[in-house]
Amino acid sequence: MSYLTYEEAKDFENAILRCPFEKCNARLIKLLPALLETKTVITGAPEMTRESTQFFKVNDVWDFDNIGVLRPAELKTELSVVGPLAKVERLLICSDCDRGPLGFAGFKDDSETDVKKLSYFLSCESVLYDKQ
Ligand SMILES: [Zn+2]
Repeated sequence: MSYLTYEEAKDFENAILRCPFEKCNARLIKLLPALLETKTVITGAPEMTRESTQFFKVNDVWDFDNIGVLRPAELKTELSVVGPLAKVERLLICSDCDRGPLGFAGFKDDSETDVKKLSYFLSCESVLYDKQ
């Protein structure tokens, strides 16, 4: 089974997004049409597995099939204002192999602390596409 990179995948609808790391390729999320529509350009994002400017926005962590998070204390990078977020609070990693980052999450409002209000952004370039 071979998966496509972002550059190779011409048709993304309903593809399964998978962890890019060898011997893992865990299923991360299904790219339903509604998720595909959220694709947005974000410059100045934290460093991802592959250089990324495009992200899918995921509103609920439970929409993922597999995802892990690194909290601020575990982050090596300086986090700040990114795209629509006033503060980046998490980096997303694969929950199966603990590698990444594959995305990031944060709050739109700097004073927000409720984790239920985190917005998640998954790097389009860092994941692989499984057209099945
Ligand atoms: Zn993985």
